[in-house]
Amino acid sequence: MYNKDMEKLGKQASAIRTLFEYGKAKKKEIGDDKVYDFSIGNPSVASPSIVNSTLIKLINEKDSTKLHGYTSASGDDNTKKAIEEYLNKTYNADVCYKDIYMTCGAAASLAITFNAILNKDEEVIVFAPFFPEYKVFVEKAGGIIDIVKSDKDFQIDFDDLNKHINKNTKIVIINSPNNPTGVIYTEENIIKLAKLLEEKAKLYNHPIYLVSDEPYRELIYTDTLYPFITRYYKNSIVCYSFSKSLSLPGERIGYILLSSDMDNKENVFNAVRGAGRSLGYVCAPALFQQMVPYCLGYTSDLNEYKKNLKDLKEMLEEIGYEIIKPEGAFYMFVKALEEDANGFSENAKKFNLLLVPSDSFGVKGYVRIAYCVSNNQIKASKTAFENLYKFYQEEK
Ligand code: PLP
Repeated sequence: MYNKDMEKLGKQASAIRTLFEYGKAKKKEIGDDKVYDFSIGNPSVASPSIVNSTLIKLINEKDSTKLHGYTSASGDDNTKKAIEEYLNKTYNADVCYKDIYMTCGAAASLAITFNAILNKDEEVIVFAPFFPEYKVFVEKAGGIIDIVKSDKDFQIDFDDLNKHINKNTKIVIINSPNNPTGVIYTEENIIKLAKLLEEKAKLYNHPIYLVSDEPYRELIYTDTLYPFITRYYKNSIVCYSFSKSLSLPGERIGYILLSSDMDNKENVFNAVRGAGRSLGYVCAPALFQQMVPYCLGYTSDLNEYKKNLKDLKEMLEEIGYEIIKPEGAFYMFVKALEEDANGFSENAKKFNLLLVPSDSFGVKGYVRIAYCVSNNQIKASKTAFENLYKFYQEEK
């Protein structure tokens, strides 16, 4: 008999994917420009030109066996040294290339990290709303998800966190800028979190790892400072990806980084290597590893997302929607006009608006809008958002 849990996972697509597939079918039926698809976080802005020019240069100039061959399991040293230099220069991060493990994107970084750290039934704290795949990765690694509330501004709710941390807590995940709210955790809260985790780790006499999931690290539209986690907490693990910063989600490239002063760092790094090996990753894509040193510090044109954010925010607020003001990523969390976000998302479909209900992110009563779409789509969706709003006014 095959594995029933895996069958279930394969059968039940995520809420995001389900809506995305619905959108594809609907576009075929009524035309692309009639469906306002805000379902999925696929970057809408082209990669910076250095990406393609570097790839072409590498393909033309490098020996193809070197270009496409296996790299060391943890990644190419040149790539890792370039990342070290970039992080130390940009964030004063004080990290070392030997503590970097190249991966196939943030999803792989997270899955490998959870398998490396967790023993059966150990607990992983996530702050709701959270990226739904965390649950899938944690449970496959034998862990249990423990959901903690966010406060009214979608920052960390420390009272709730305090109640949840217990002797089985092994990992706390943060994701900032956040999917789905776009909120960035303040430095003050990161300092407070680090202090609390240090106290609790002492109390329970084992490390509690702070895993920072950072695919949106560069997608910031305000002057907000980005608190780089290794500067604040010694047992921190960065799970990074170039998927969003360089608009490369299909190419699968990212890394895991352990903080320099981590307890038993060599053993933890070996556990990361072991987890990567046991999950069959072998190495991260060689061509894209070789591209990375040339592209560090570059991003896709963030002004396009910034403009989308401004236009969408103004449009929705003018109509009367209540939004959580995002500072980064390319998502907006909007209050549903009824308690049941699924019902609201279904009603939105009647106006060909595809909005992801918040339940699978672990909170009720909101929808997520992925505004990584063309600016035209945002403008064209205005009447649909107005009609949806009117529909609820008339219901009352
Ligand atoms: N973490 C978060 C919060 C995400 O939003 C995503 C993708 O949308 C991922 C991880 C996975 O990213 P990647 O494509 O690099 O695997």
